[in-house]
Amino acid sequence: MSDAPEKKAPRKATPRTEMPVQPPFVRIQNYLEVAVGYTEADAKAEAARCLQCKKPLCRQGCPVEIDIKGFIGALQKGDLPGSYKVLRDYNSLPAVCGRVCPQETQCEGMCVLSKNAEKTGGPVAIGRLERYVADTFAARVADGDAACLQITGEAACRMMRDDLKVACIGAGPASLTVTGYLAALGIKVTVFEALHEVGGVLVYGIPEFRLPKGIVRREVDAMKDLGVEFKTNWVGGKAFTVQELMDQGYKAVFIGVGAGLPQFMKVPGENSIGVFSANEYLTRVNLGRAYDFPNYDTPIFKADEVCVVGGGNVAMDAARTALRLGAKKVSIVYRRTKAEMPARLEELEHAIEEGVQLELLNAPLALNADENKRLVSMTVQKMQLGEPDASGRRRPEPIEGQTAEIPCQLVIIAVGTKPNPILLEATKGLGLNKWGYIDANPETGETSIHNVFAGGDIVTGAATVISAMGAGRKAAKEIAKRLLGLDA
Ligand code: FAD
Ligand code: SF4
Repeated sequence: MSDAPEKKAPRKATPRTEMPVQPPFVRIQNYLEVAVGYTEADAKAEAARCLQCKKPLCRQGCPVEIDIKGFIGALQKGDLPGSYKVLRDYNSLPAVCGRVCPQETQCEGMCVLSKNAEKTGGPVAIGRLERYVADTFAARVADGDAACLQITGEAACRMMRDDLKVACIGAGPASLTVTGYLAALGIKVTVFEALHEVGGVLVYGIPEFRLPKGIVRREVDAMKDLGVEFKTNWVGGKAFTVQELMDQGYKAVFIGVGAGLPQFMKVPGENSIGVFSANEYLTRVNLGRAYDFPNYDTPIFKADEVCVVGGGNVAMDAARTALRLGAKKVSIVYRRTKAEMPARLEELEHAIEEGVQLELLNAPLALNADENKRLVSMTVQKMQLGEPDASGRRRPEPIEGQTAEIPCQLVIIAVGTKPNPILLEATKGLGLNKWGYIDANPETGETSIHNVFAGGDIVTGAATVISAMGAGRKAAKEIAKRLLGLDA
């Protein structure tokens, strides 16, 4: 039998419903969310585009296998609580995923309407609908809507089994998925987080203008209502070990500590005043709320001319943050071309609209400082693209003798991260791969230690929110199977 959907795309193309956004000249002067969100009419129009395929390919593109047809189908019938319930059955962070997931390469990339986009109007805007359902549901709960409260109430009524304790280390999307899944089954979960806020990169990395922190807090509060305990300022490997948790009666431990240790470029001048890792820069602004000066007095380095090195989402976030903090010129320095940039297309387009400049085919050679060690410029090597490398992307090669100098007083380095060794070194018997990440069974998430699981960036290296959640879901299913005897 073929996988082709049985319904055909409508003959007359209905274009995707645009996401309303703040105009670029307005949004670079504030820190509010860029994408404003669908209205009820927008959501209705977009949901109506879904063909309700008999074999919905969209679902195959989702790492947590959301019943996309189901949640959009309920929305088509005007059943918002029902739509939310379908979403929550698969995804404990729908408002987050609706905002930051790379849908274009996942569910939307697989949607039958993504083929022949000029005729079909393009794939159903699944992420925008997911966000609409999650946000509208939350607003209705806040307004005391009975049908919505019944759904949240049903979940909260489940009895917690104190004899079945599970610990999660780290409170990013991987652990939060394990937590949401197990708590819904009545398993008592305690989450140990090194920072003073829960959410991982969702709170310290991704800026407010893409993902308001109130949304993460809302999802975390829903887990607290289920009985989950969050212990912040607890550093695994220093304050406690995995073995100590097992000795305290935790039946399983999930390690979701991410890969937050920044990498540097190893070029001369990298320790000059005015050089930051994107991790530190964004953490100061997001977690330390430096953008909200003087209400918060976290120090942040400001400059007129800023260079951000890298081509991923982290580089885009750092560049757009620097603009909002008042920089006159922000340039992204990247050694390949726009086509090879790993950032989400939408984020790249938003950055360009806001005035971020692209210095493509340039690789930093040196960071130059004045006699006071203050950064004044970056020397770059001009590059060209050669043959594809192991990743399939064309390899950047230096053009001999061609260099240039870019004036800048602040450089933000976003060239990747690696695992923080604190917990890994303190956990005896934990198998690591040759890159230093945890070796975990791809089907169950179990590590070399029985009943100790791992998932997310600490296993795969820096990836995406939804892939971390997919790993969390697999591990949670296995833990539930072992603890409850359920093939949940
Ligand atoms: P993390 O989110 O890194 O969470 C790990 C948590 O563990 C942290 O809170 C950390 O403090 C804590 N921790 C670390 N060590 C310890 C310890 N020893 N003890 C206790 N706690 C510890 N992905 C997308 O899909 N879309 C995007 O638009 C996107 N944008 C991004 C922008 C930025 C700036 C960054 C940095 C990443 C972005 N990503 C994006 C990637 C995505 O956020 C990550 O892949 C995802 O958060 C990984 O989840 P995780 O749960 O594995 O780890
Ligand atoms: Fe079909 Fe796309 Fe609707 Fe999924 S979202 S059911 S693939 S039309």
